[in-house]
Amino acid sequence: MLESILKRASVGNVTVALPAGDLPSPFRGMPEVGEAFRTGGAAATCAKACATDAIDPEKRTIDLGRCVFCGLCEEACGGEGIRFSQNPRLPWGKRENLVLGGSDVSLAPASADLRSLLGRSLHLREVSAGGCNGCDLEAQALGNPIFDLQRFGIDFVASPRHADGLLVTGPVSKNMREALVKTYEAIAEPRIVIAIGACAASGGIFRGSYAVEDGVGNVLPVDLFIPGCPPHPLTLLYAILGFLGRSPEKIPRG
Ligand code: SF4
Repeated sequence: MLESILKRASVGNVTVALPAGDLPSPFRGMPEVGEAFRTGGAAATCAKACATDAIDPEKRTIDLGRCVFCGLCEEACGGEGIRFSQNPRLPWGKRENLVLGGSDVSLAPASADLRSLLGRSLHLREVSAGGCNGCDLEAQALGNPIFDLQRFGIDFVASPRHADGLLVTGPVSKNMREALVKTYEAIAEPRIVIAIGACAASGGIFRGSYAVEDGVGNVLPVDLFIPGCPPHPLTLLYAILGFLGRSPEKIPRG
């Protein structure tokens, strides 16, 4: 017993404080676009390297809702066009908010009415809708002592009857469509839908397959898209807290 107490004391508090700063390499976070991408030939070179068509060389945009953060564009352009930073804070909100370099879009937090209804509590039912489980693992990691989602009054529940909303991963396979819709309908209104990862935003690497719906937005009304492949738990935390209008800078360590 004494040994356990001493061990616990020596480990200390492992919960990460927010804002957490940049993450160590090789983590790929927010991409930074160079002049060669904005005005030169790098956009076309980067686009050729991209297997998910995330880069539009004409509009010179990067769609983080399609990007799987493979880094091939950075390699192809030698870092002149696109360079991935280690910043886990990615744009979130409506689907168009995930497109970098296009027209300006503002982040879209939940309405004041919804925020007031939720107060400091948000309970989510997760549905894994045909992805690789990478996003599910990162969402699950939110509950560990390092990210400690519960310190913010946010938690996952087993029954949709107990939930304020859905957190969905995966491109929504045709076989999961009905289960997803039924789970959504079992949640009392008003309910929110959070779609995490490239698959949930656009179908990701499965986009165009006969077996998927190419993202949650084609099945349910999505309130919050969060990019990543998979999104880091900090990316999820920043986006969910931002959506709830709770600035991480003002949130104390647990
Ligand atoms: S990192 Fe994203 S934008 Fe770049 S090649 Fe990979 S999927 Fe395409």
